[in-house]
Amino acid sequence: MGVDLQAAATETPTGHAPMRPLLSATLELATEYLDEVDRRPVGRPVEPCELLAQLPAALPDEPLDAEQVVRELAEAVDGGLVASAGPRFFGYVVGGALPAAVAADWLTAAWDQQAGAYNASPAAAVVEHRVAEWLVDLFGLPAETTVGFVTGAAQANLVALAAARWRLLRRLEWDVAEEGLCGAPPLAVLASADRHVTVDGALRLLGIGRAQITDVETDDQGRMRPDALKAALAEAAAPALVCAQAGNVNTGACDPLEQISEACRAAGAWLHVDGAFGMWARTTPAHDHLVAGLQWASSWATDAHKWLNVPYDSGLVFVADGEAHAAATAATAAYYAGTGDDDERQGSLWVPEFSRRARGFTVYAALRSLGRRGIAELVERDCALARRFAERARDIDGVEVLNEIALNQVLLRVDAGDGDDPTLRAIEGVQRDGTFWAGPTSWRGRSAMRVSISGWNTTADDVDRAASALERVVEQQRAVPATSS
Ligand SMILES: *Cc1c(COP(=O)(O)O)cnc(C)c1O
Repeated sequence: MGVDLQAAATETPTGHAPMRPLLSATLELATEYLDEVDRRPVGRPVEPCELLAQLPAALPDEPLDAEQVVRELAEAVDGGLVASAGPRFFGYVVGGALPAAVAADWLTAAWDQQAGAYNASPAAAVVEHRVAEWLVDLFGLPAETTVGFVTGAAQANLVALAAARWRLLRRLEWDVAEEGLCGAPPLAVLASADRHVTVDGALRLLGIGRAQITDVETDDQGRMRPDALKAALAEAAAPALVCAQAGNVNTGACDPLEQISEACRAAGAWLHVDGAFGMWARTTPAHDHLVAGLQWASSWATDAHKWLNVPYDSGLVFVADGEAHAAATAATAAYYAGTGDDDERQGSLWVPEFSRRARGFTVYAALRSLGRRGIAELVERDCALARRFAERARDIDGVEVLNEIALNQVLLRVDAGDGDDPTLRAIEGVQRDGTFWAGPTSWRGRSAMRVSISGWNTTADDVDRAASALERVVEQQRAVPATSS
Protein backbone atom coordinates (compact mmCIF):
# COMPACT_ATOMS: atom_id res chain seq x y z
CA MET A 1 0.00 0.00 0.00
CA GLY A 2 3.01 2.25 0.45
CA VAL A 3 1.76 3.92 3.62
CA ASP A 4 4.31 6.18 5.25
CA LEU A 5 3.78 5.05 8.83
CA GLN A 6 6.31 7.53 10.16
CA ALA A 7 4.35 10.44 8.69
CA ALA A 8 1.02 8.88 9.62
CA ALA A 9 2.05 8.78 13.27
CA THR A 10 2.02 12.57 13.47
CA GLU A 11 -1.37 13.02 11.76
CA THR A 12 -4.88 12.86 13.15
CA PRO A 13 -5.86 9.21 13.60
CA THR A 14 -7.76 7.90 10.60
CA GLY A 15 -11.52 7.62 11.03
CA HIS A 16 -11.43 10.35 13.65
CA ALA A 17 -14.47 12.58 13.37
CA PRO A 18 -15.91 15.24 15.62
CA MET A 19 -18.25 13.28 17.87
CA ARG A 20 -21.23 15.61 17.95
CA PRO A 21 -22.23 15.43 14.27
CA LEU A 22 -21.45 11.72 14.21
CA LEU A 23 -23.59 10.90 17.23
CA SER A 24 -26.34 13.29 16.07
CA ALA A 25 -26.50 11.44 12.77
CA THR A 26 -26.55 8.15 14.68
CA LEU A 27 -29.35 9.46 16.88
CA GLU A 28 -31.36 10.16 13.72
CA LEU A 29 -30.75 6.65 12.38
CA ALA A 30 -31.65 5.02 15.68
CA THR A 31 -34.79 7.03 16.33
CA GLU A 32 -35.99 6.65 12.74
CA TYR A 33 -35.64 2.91 13.23
CA LEU A 34 -37.39 2.83 16.58
CA ASP A 35 -40.20 5.14 15.40
CA GLU A 36 -40.89 2.73 12.53
CA VAL A 37 -40.17 -0.59 14.23
CA ASP A 38 -43.83 -1.23 14.97
CA ARG A 39 -44.65 -1.01 11.26
CA ARG A 40 -41.91 -3.29 9.97
CA PRO A 41 -42.64 -6.92 9.10
CA VAL A 42 -41.33 -8.49 12.30
CA GLY A 43 -38.91 -10.99 10.80
CA ARG A 44 -38.59 -11.24 7.04
CA PRO A 45 -37.02 -14.50 5.97
CA VAL A 46 -33.91 -13.46 4.02
CA GLU A 47 -31.04 -15.37 2.44
CA PRO A 48 -27.53 -14.63 3.75
CA CYS A 49 -26.20 -14.06 0.21
CA GLU A 50 -28.71 -11.28 -0.32
CA LEU A 51 -27.40 -9.44 2.75
CA LEU A 52 -23.74 -10.28 2.18
CA ALA A 53 -23.98 -8.66 -1.24
CA GLN A 54 -24.57 -5.35 0.55
CA LEU A 55 -21.19 -5.51 2.29
CA PRO A 56 -17.73 -5.00 0.73
CA ALA A 57 -16.42 -8.46 -0.18
CA ALA A 58 -12.87 -7.74 0.95
CA LEU A 59 -11.73 -5.30 3.62
CA PRO A 60 -11.15 -2.07 1.69
CA ASP A 61 -7.64 -0.60 1.82
CA GLU A 62 -8.65 2.95 2.50
CA PRO A 63 -10.16 4.42 5.64
CA LEU A 64 -13.69 5.77 5.49
CA ASP A 65 -15.29 8.67 7.29
CA ALA A 66 -17.00 7.45 10.51
CA GLU A 67 -20.41 8.92 9.70
CA GLN A 68 -20.38 7.26 6.30
CA VAL A 69 -19.39 3.95 7.89
CA VAL A 70 -22.38 4.14 10.22
CA ARG A 71 -24.84 5.25 7.51
CA GLU A 72 -23.71 2.55 5.09
CA LEU A 73 -23.84 -0.08 7.82
CA ALA A 74 -27.41 0.86 8.72
CA GLU A 75 -28.43 0.77 5.07
CA ALA A 76 -26.65 -2.50 4.29
CA VAL A 77 -28.13 -4.54 7.13
CA ASP A 78 -31.64 -3.09 7.11
CA GLY A 79 -33.16 -6.05 5.27
CA GLY A 80 -31.75 -8.41 7.87
CA LEU A 81 -32.93 -6.59 10.97
CA VAL A 82 -35.56 -8.43 12.99
CA ALA A 83 -37.99 -6.17 14.82
CA SER A 84 -37.19 -7.70 18.19
CA ALA A 85 -37.17 -4.19 19.65
CA GLY A 86 -40.81 -3.92 18.62
CA PRO A 87 -43.95 -5.15 20.40
CA ARG A 88 -44.74 -8.30 18.39
CA PHE A 89 -41.54 -10.31 18.41
CA PHE A 90 -42.62 -13.38 20.40
CA GLY A 91 -39.52 -15.53 19.88
CA TYR A 92 -36.81 -16.78 22.26
CA VAL A 93 -38.38 -15.33 25.47
CA VAL A 94 -36.71 -12.01 24.75
CA GLY A 95 -38.34 -8.63 25.00
CA GLY A 96 -37.29 -5.33 23.52
CA ALA A 97 -35.13 -2.82 25.36
CA LEU A 98 -36.52 -0.28 27.81
CA PRO A 99 -35.87 3.35 26.79
CA ALA A 100 -33.79 4.11 29.90
CA ALA A 101 -31.72 0.98 29.31
CA VAL A 102 -31.06 1.84 25.65
CA ALA A 103 -29.96 5.31 26.69
CA ALA A 104 -27.70 3.94 29.44
CA ASP A 105 -26.24 1.51 26.90
CA TRP A 106 -25.23 4.43 24.69
CA LEU A 107 -23.51 6.08 27.63
CA THR A 108 -21.82 2.79 28.50
CA ALA A 109 -20.26 2.81 25.04
CA ALA A 110 -19.33 6.49 25.21
CA TRP A 111 -17.81 6.14 28.68
CA ASP A 112 -16.03 2.94 27.61
CA GLN A 113 -15.37 1.80 31.15
CA GLN A 114 -13.40 -1.34 31.96
CA ALA A 115 -15.59 -2.90 34.61
CA GLY A 116 -13.21 -5.67 35.60
CA ALA A 117 -11.36 -3.67 38.22
CA TYR A 118 -12.36 -1.03 40.76
CA ASN A 119 -9.46 1.25 39.85
CA ALA A 120 -10.33 1.06 36.14
CA SER A 121 -13.84 2.33 36.87
CA PRO A 122 -15.03 3.14 40.37
CA ALA A 123 -18.28 4.28 38.69
CA ALA A 124 -18.96 0.88 37.15
CA ALA A 125 -18.00 -0.87 40.38
CA VAL A 126 -20.32 1.06 42.67
CA VAL A 127 -23.25 0.82 40.27
CA GLU A 128 -22.81 -2.95 40.09
CA HIS A 129 -22.51 -3.02 43.86
CA ARG A 130 -25.82 -1.18 44.28
CA VAL A 131 -27.63 -3.14 41.55
CA ALA A 132 -26.45 -6.39 43.13
CA GLU A 133 -27.97 -5.29 46.46
CA TRP A 134 -31.23 -4.35 44.78
CA LEU A 135 -31.52 -7.65 42.95
CA VAL A 136 -30.67 -9.82 45.94
CA ASP A 137 -33.41 -7.97 47.81
CA LEU A 138 -35.88 -8.08 44.90
CA PHE A 139 -35.52 -11.85 44.50
CA GLY A 140 -35.43 -12.40 48.28
CA LEU A 141 -32.07 -14.21 48.16
CA PRO A 142 -29.77 -14.62 51.19
CA ALA A 143 -28.10 -11.33 52.11
CA GLU A 144 -24.57 -12.70 51.63
CA THR A 145 -25.27 -13.75 48.01
CA THR A 146 -22.58 -12.65 45.55
CA VAL A 147 -23.49 -11.43 42.07
CA GLY A 148 -21.72 -11.56 38.72
CA PHE A 149 -22.69 -9.50 35.66
CA VAL A 150 -22.31 -11.94 32.79
CA THR A 151 -23.42 -12.05 29.16
CA GLY A 152 -26.56 -14.11 29.64
CA ALA A 153 -28.14 -17.01 31.49
CA ALA A 154 -25.97 -19.53 29.61
CA GLN A 155 -22.87 -17.93 31.12
CA ALA A 156 -24.64 -17.56 34.46
CA ASN A 157 -25.34 -21.30 34.48
CA LEU A 158 -21.68 -21.96 33.71
CA VAL A 159 -20.42 -19.80 36.58
CA ALA A 160 -22.93 -21.16 39.09
CA LEU A 161 -22.19 -24.77 38.18
CA ALA A 162 -18.46 -24.10 38.38
CA ALA A 163 -18.97 -22.77 41.90
CA ALA A 164 -20.99 -25.87 42.76
CA ARG A 165 -18.31 -28.16 41.38
CA TRP A 166 -15.63 -26.41 43.43
CA ARG A 167 -17.61 -26.60 46.68
CA LEU A 168 -18.80 -30.18 46.31
CA LEU A 169 -15.31 -31.43 45.48
CA ARG A 170 -13.89 -29.37 48.30
CA ARG A 171 -16.13 -31.27 50.69
CA LEU A 172 -14.41 -34.41 49.41
CA GLU A 173 -11.03 -32.85 50.22
CA TRP A 174 -10.37 -32.14 46.56
CA ASP A 175 -9.46 -28.61 45.44
CA VAL A 176 -10.36 -28.51 41.77
CA ALA A 177 -8.82 -25.03 41.41
CA GLU A 178 -5.52 -26.49 42.53
CA GLU A 179 -5.58 -30.09 41.33
CA GLY A 180 -7.84 -29.94 38.28
CA LEU A 181 -10.40 -32.53 37.35
CA CYS A 182 -8.18 -35.46 36.38
CA GLY A 183 -8.40 -38.00 39.16
CA ALA A 184 -11.05 -36.04 41.04
CA PRO A 185 -13.72 -37.98 42.93
CA PRO A 186 -17.00 -38.21 41.02
CA LEU A 187 -20.02 -35.98 41.59
CA ALA A 188 -23.62 -36.97 41.06
CA VAL A 189 -25.30 -34.54 38.68
CA LEU A 190 -29.10 -34.69 38.76
CA ALA A 191 -30.85 -32.40 36.31
CA SER A 192 -34.42 -31.84 35.23
CA ALA A 193 -35.19 -33.94 32.16
CA ASP A 194 -36.65 -30.73 30.68
CA ARG A 195 -33.68 -28.50 31.46
CA HIS A 196 -32.47 -25.84 29.07
CA VAL A 197 -29.80 -26.94 26.59
CA THR A 198 -27.34 -24.44 28.02
CA VAL A 199 -27.16 -26.46 31.26
CA ASP A 200 -25.69 -29.36 29.28
CA GLY A 201 -23.38 -26.92 27.52
CA ALA A 202 -22.16 -25.50 30.81
CA LEU A 203 -21.60 -28.94 32.33
CA ARG A 204 -19.68 -30.00 29.22
CA LEU A 205 -17.32 -27.04 29.60
CA LEU A 206 -16.86 -28.07 33.22
CA GLY A 207 -15.75 -31.56 32.27
CA ILE A 208 -19.05 -33.25 33.05
CA GLY A 209 -20.30 -35.25 30.08
CA ARG A 210 -23.79 -36.14 29.00
CA ALA A 211 -23.55 -39.72 30.27
CA GLN A 212 -22.70 -38.40 33.74
CA ILE A 213 -25.98 -36.50 34.03
CA THR A 214 -29.00 -38.22 35.57
CA ASP A 215 -32.26 -36.95 34.06
CA VAL A 216 -34.84 -36.36 36.76
CA GLU A 217 -38.36 -37.11 35.58
CA THR A 218 -40.78 -34.24 34.98
CA ASP A 219 -44.56 -33.92 34.80
CA ASP A 220 -46.70 -33.07 31.78
CA GLN A 221 -45.81 -29.37 32.08
CA GLY A 222 -42.08 -30.05 32.36
CA ARG A 223 -41.88 -29.55 36.14
CA MET A 224 -39.37 -31.69 38.01
CA ARG A 225 -41.09 -34.37 40.09
CA PRO A 226 -39.95 -34.12 43.72
CA ASP A 227 -40.52 -37.84 44.31
CA ALA A 228 -38.26 -38.66 41.36
CA LEU A 229 -35.62 -36.28 42.70
CA LYS A 230 -35.80 -37.83 46.16
CA ALA A 231 -35.33 -41.29 44.70
CA ALA A 232 -32.36 -40.11 42.62
CA LEU A 233 -30.80 -38.40 45.63
CA ALA A 234 -31.19 -41.56 47.68
CA GLU A 235 -29.41 -43.53 44.98
CA ALA A 236 -26.61 -41.03 44.45
CA ALA A 237 -23.30 -42.44 45.61
CA ALA A 238 -21.53 -39.06 45.60
CA PRO A 239 -22.34 -35.47 46.67
CA ALA A 240 -25.07 -34.23 44.38
CA LEU A 241 -25.40 -31.20 42.17
CA VAL A 242 -29.08 -30.66 41.35
CA CYS A 243 -30.15 -28.48 38.42
CA ALA A 244 -33.73 -27.25 38.65
CA GLN A 245 -35.44 -24.44 36.82
CA ALA A 246 -37.84 -21.58 37.22
CA GLY A 247 -39.48 -21.08 33.84
CA ASN A 248 -39.41 -23.95 31.37
CA VAL A 249 -38.45 -22.50 28.03
CA ASN A 250 -41.45 -24.17 26.36
CA THR A 251 -44.27 -24.15 28.90
CA GLY A 252 -43.08 -21.48 31.33
CA ALA A 253 -43.72 -23.91 34.20
CA CYS A 254 -41.58 -23.63 37.33
CA ASP A 255 -40.21 -26.58 39.29
CA PRO A 256 -41.71 -27.03 42.79
CA LEU A 257 -38.72 -25.42 44.47
CA GLU A 258 -39.99 -25.68 48.02
CA GLN A 259 -40.06 -29.48 47.93
CA ILE A 260 -36.95 -29.68 45.78
CA SER A 261 -34.91 -27.45 48.06
CA GLU A 262 -36.07 -29.40 51.09
CA ALA A 263 -34.92 -32.65 49.52
CA CYS A 264 -31.60 -31.05 48.55
CA ARG A 265 -31.06 -29.69 52.04
CA ALA A 266 -31.72 -33.08 53.59
CA ALA A 267 -29.24 -34.69 51.19
CA GLY A 268 -26.59 -31.98 51.49
CA ALA A 269 -26.89 -31.33 47.75
CA TRP A 270 -26.09 -28.10 45.92
CA LEU A 271 -29.27 -26.81 44.28
CA HIS A 272 -28.86 -24.61 41.22
CA VAL A 273 -31.89 -22.86 39.75
CA ASP A 274 -31.87 -21.81 36.10
CA GLY A 275 -34.34 -18.93 36.24
CA ALA A 276 -33.44 -17.17 32.99
CA PHE A 277 -36.87 -15.59 32.83
CA GLY A 278 -38.98 -17.43 35.41
CA MET A 279 -37.14 -15.93 38.36
CA TRP A 280 -38.92 -12.68 37.63
CA ALA A 281 -42.15 -14.31 38.83
CA ARG A 282 -40.72 -13.54 42.26
CA THR A 283 -41.34 -9.83 41.74
CA THR A 284 -45.13 -9.98 41.69
CA PRO A 285 -47.56 -11.19 44.36
CA ALA A 286 -49.71 -12.73 41.62
CA HIS A 287 -46.95 -15.14 40.53
CA ASP A 288 -44.65 -15.30 43.54
CA HIS A 289 -46.10 -18.66 44.64
CA LEU A 290 -44.73 -20.28 41.46
CA VAL A 291 -41.19 -19.85 42.76
CA ALA A 292 -41.81 -20.37 46.47
CA GLY A 293 -38.67 -21.81 48.02
CA LEU A 294 -36.41 -20.09 45.47
CA GLN A 295 -34.32 -18.58 48.26
CA TRP A 296 -33.27 -21.99 49.60
CA ALA A 297 -31.15 -22.80 46.54
CA SER A 298 -27.36 -22.39 46.50
CA SER A 299 -27.08 -20.62 43.15
CA TRP A 300 -29.27 -18.95 40.57
CA ALA A 301 -29.00 -17.82 36.95
CA THR A 302 -31.18 -15.22 35.32
CA ASP A 303 -31.20 -12.84 32.41
CA ALA A 304 -31.50 -9.08 32.31
CA HIS A 305 -31.83 -9.08 28.52
CA LYS A 306 -34.97 -11.22 28.60
CA TRP A 307 -37.81 -10.11 30.85
CA LEU A 308 -36.10 -7.04 32.28
CA ASN A 309 -35.77 -5.72 28.73
CA VAL A 310 -32.14 -4.63 28.93
CA PRO A 311 -30.13 -4.62 25.65
CA TYR A 312 -27.88 -7.69 25.00
CA ASP A 313 -25.63 -9.07 26.46
CA SER A 314 -26.77 -9.04 30.02
CA GLY A 315 -27.22 -11.92 32.42
CA LEU A 316 -26.81 -12.34 36.16
CA VAL A 317 -25.38 -15.09 38.32
CA PHE A 318 -26.06 -15.30 42.04
CA VAL A 319 -24.20 -17.58 44.42
CA ALA A 320 -25.01 -17.94 48.13
CA ASP A 321 -21.48 -19.24 48.77
CA GLY A 322 -19.18 -16.35 47.87
CA GLU A 323 -16.01 -18.33 48.46
CA ALA A 324 -17.09 -20.98 45.96
CA HIS A 325 -18.18 -18.28 43.51
CA ALA A 326 -14.83 -16.49 43.55
CA ALA A 327 -12.92 -19.79 43.53
CA ALA A 328 -14.70 -20.69 40.30
CA THR A 329 -14.13 -17.46 38.42
CA ALA A 330 -11.41 -15.28 39.93
CA ALA A 331 -8.33 -15.12 37.73
CA THR A 332 -5.99 -14.87 40.70
CA ALA A 333 -5.29 -17.56 43.26
CA ALA A 334 -5.86 -15.03 46.03
CA TYR A 335 -9.49 -15.21 45.05
CA TYR A 336 -11.02 -14.52 48.39
CA ALA A 337 -8.98 -11.49 49.33
CA GLY A 338 -10.92 -8.27 49.39
CA THR A 339 -14.40 -9.56 48.67
CA GLY A 340 -15.96 -8.13 51.82
CA ASP A 341 -19.02 -6.05 51.04
CA ASP A 342 -17.60 -2.68 52.08
CA ASP A 343 -14.50 -3.24 49.97
CA GLU A 344 -13.87 -1.97 46.48
CA ARG A 345 -15.82 -4.27 44.17
CA GLN A 346 -13.60 -6.05 41.66
CA GLY A 347 -15.99 -6.83 38.83
CA SER A 348 -13.79 -9.51 37.25
CA LEU A 349 -13.90 -11.61 40.41
CA TRP A 350 -17.39 -12.94 39.75
CA VAL A 351 -17.33 -13.64 36.01
CA PRO A 352 -15.15 -15.58 33.58
CA GLU A 353 -14.05 -12.40 31.77
CA PHE A 354 -11.24 -10.14 32.92
CA SER A 355 -11.64 -6.87 31.00
CA ARG A 356 -15.26 -6.34 30.21
CA ARG A 357 -18.14 -4.02 29.45
CA ALA A 358 -19.75 -2.15 32.35
CA ARG A 359 -22.98 -4.15 32.26
CA GLY A 360 -24.31 -2.68 35.48
CA PHE A 361 -25.30 0.66 33.96
CA THR A 362 -28.10 -0.70 31.76
CA VAL A 363 -29.44 -2.98 34.48
CA TYR A 364 -29.43 -0.02 36.86
CA ALA A 365 -31.32 2.12 34.35
CA ALA A 366 -33.94 -0.57 33.72
CA LEU A 367 -34.53 -1.22 37.42
CA ARG A 368 -34.52 2.46 38.35
CA SER A 369 -36.88 3.49 35.55
CA LEU A 370 -39.41 0.77 36.42
CA GLY A 371 -39.15 0.69 40.19
CA ARG A 372 -40.56 -2.28 42.07
CA ARG A 373 -44.06 -1.49 40.91
CA GLY A 374 -43.06 -1.16 37.27
CA ILE A 375 -41.21 -4.48 37.31
CA ALA A 376 -44.21 -6.26 38.81
CA GLU A 377 -46.53 -4.60 36.29
CA LEU A 378 -44.32 -5.60 33.37
CA VAL A 379 -44.33 -9.24 34.48
CA GLU A 380 -48.04 -9.33 35.22
CA ARG A 381 -48.99 -7.55 32.00
CA ASP A 382 -47.02 -10.01 29.87
CA CYS A 383 -48.55 -12.97 31.71
CA ALA A 384 -52.03 -11.53 31.18
CA LEU A 385 -51.22 -10.99 27.50
CA ALA A 386 -50.05 -14.60 27.19
CA ARG A 387 -53.38 -15.75 28.65
CA ARG A 388 -55.19 -13.47 26.20
CA PHE A 389 -53.24 -14.88 23.26
CA ALA A 390 -53.99 -18.43 24.41
CA GLU A 391 -57.71 -17.65 24.67
CA ARG A 392 -57.78 -16.21 21.18
CA ALA A 393 -55.73 -19.11 19.81
CA ARG A 394 -58.08 -21.71 21.35
CA ASP A 395 -60.91 -20.19 19.32
CA ILE A 396 -59.09 -20.77 16.04
CA ASP A 397 -60.21 -23.91 14.27
CA GLY A 398 -57.21 -26.26 13.95
CA VAL A 399 -55.15 -24.69 16.70
CA GLU A 400 -54.50 -26.42 20.01
CA VAL A 401 -52.91 -24.82 23.08
CA LEU A 402 -50.59 -27.42 24.60
CA ASN A 403 -49.65 -25.89 27.94
CA GLU A 404 -51.16 -24.42 31.08
CA ILE A 405 -50.39 -20.72 30.89
CA ALA A 406 -48.29 -20.40 34.03
CA LEU A 407 -46.29 -17.35 32.96
CA ASN A 408 -45.63 -15.75 29.59
CA GLN A 409 -45.32 -18.82 27.36
CA VAL A 410 -47.93 -20.19 24.97
CA LEU A 411 -47.24 -23.47 23.20
CA LEU A 412 -49.35 -24.26 20.14
CA ARG A 413 -49.96 -27.08 17.73
CA VAL A 414 -51.57 -26.53 14.36
CA ASP A 415 -53.59 -29.19 12.62
CA ALA A 416 -54.84 -27.64 9.41
CA GLY A 417 -54.18 -28.21 5.74
CA ASP A 418 -51.88 -30.84 4.29
CA GLY A 419 -48.10 -31.20 4.39
CA ASP A 420 -45.77 -33.26 6.58
CA ASP A 421 -45.84 -30.97 9.55
CA PRO A 422 -48.73 -28.48 9.65
CA THR A 423 -47.30 -26.77 12.74
CA LEU A 424 -43.95 -26.04 11.07
CA ARG A 425 -45.81 -24.93 7.97
CA ALA A 426 -47.86 -22.51 10.06
CA ILE A 427 -44.71 -21.14 11.73
CA GLU A 428 -43.23 -20.44 8.30
CA GLY A 429 -46.51 -18.84 7.30
CA VAL A 430 -46.52 -16.64 10.38
CA GLN A 431 -42.93 -15.53 9.79
CA ARG A 432 -43.67 -14.71 6.14
CA ASP A 433 -46.82 -12.84 7.11
CA GLY A 434 -44.68 -10.62 9.35
CA THR A 435 -47.37 -9.41 11.74
CA PHE A 436 -45.67 -11.21 14.60
CA TRP A 437 -42.79 -13.63 15.01
CA ALA A 438 -42.89 -17.03 16.67
CA GLY A 439 -40.37 -19.82 16.40
CA PRO A 440 -40.48 -23.60 16.35
CA THR A 441 -39.75 -25.91 19.22
CA SER A 442 -40.29 -29.54 20.04
CA TRP A 443 -42.56 -30.60 22.87
CA ARG A 444 -42.97 -34.24 23.89
CA GLY A 445 -41.52 -35.36 20.58
CA ARG A 446 -43.68 -33.22 18.32
CA SER A 447 -43.33 -29.84 16.66
CA ALA A 448 -44.84 -26.87 18.42
CA MET A 449 -45.07 -23.12 17.89
CA ARG A 450 -43.72 -21.17 20.83
CA VAL A 451 -45.08 -17.74 21.64
CA SER A 452 -43.26 -15.84 24.39
CA ILE A 453 -44.55 -12.49 25.50
CA SER A 454 -41.73 -10.68 27.25
CA GLY A 455 -41.82 -7.11 26.00
CA TRP A 456 -42.32 -3.88 27.94
CA ASN A 457 -44.08 -2.42 24.88
CA THR A 458 -46.51 -5.22 23.95
CA THR A 459 -50.18 -4.28 24.27
CA ALA A 460 -53.51 -6.11 24.09
CA ASP A 461 -53.92 -4.71 20.59
CA ASP A 462 -50.60 -6.30 19.55
CA VAL A 463 -51.78 -9.63 20.89
CA ASP A 464 -55.10 -9.33 19.06
CA ARG A 465 -53.36 -8.46 15.81
CA ALA A 466 -51.05 -11.43 16.26
CA ALA A 467 -53.93 -13.80 16.97
CA SER A 468 -55.79 -12.54 13.90
CA ALA A 469 -52.66 -13.09 11.82
CA LEU A 470 -52.40 -16.65 13.13
CA GLU A 471 -56.03 -17.27 12.22
CA ARG A 472 -55.43 -15.88 8.72
CA VAL A 473 -52.35 -18.05 8.22
CA VAL A 474 -54.13 -21.20 9.41
CA GLU A 475 -57.15 -20.55 7.18
CA GLN A 476 -54.94 -19.96 4.20
CA GLN A 477 -53.00 -23.12 4.98
CA ARG A 478 -56.23 -25.07 4.90
CA ALA A 479 -57.17 -23.55 1.54
CA VAL A 480 -53.82 -23.90 -0.25
CA PRO A 481 -52.03 -27.25 -0.80
CA ALA A 482 -48.63 -27.47 0.88
CA THR A 483 -46.64 -27.80 -2.32
CA SER A 484 -47.72 -24.43 -3.69
CA SER A 485 -47.37 -22.51 -0.41
C1 LIG B 1 -32.79 -18.28 27.53
C2 LIG B 1 -32.52 -19.31 28.53
C3 LIG B 1 -31.22 -19.70 28.84
C4 LIG B 1 -30.02 -19.14 28.11
O1 LIG B 1 -29.95 -17.75 28.31
P1 LIG B 1 -29.11 -16.79 27.38
O2 LIG B 1 -29.48 -15.45 27.85
O3 LIG B 1 -29.57 -17.07 25.98
O4 LIG B 1 -27.67 -17.11 27.58
C5 LIG B 1 -31.04 -20.62 29.84
N1 LIG B 1 -32.08 -21.17 30.49
C6 LIG B 1 -33.36 -20.84 30.22
C7 LIG B 1 -34.47 -21.47 30.99
C8 LIG B 1 -33.62 -19.89 29.22
O5 LIG B 1 -34.88 -19.55 28.96
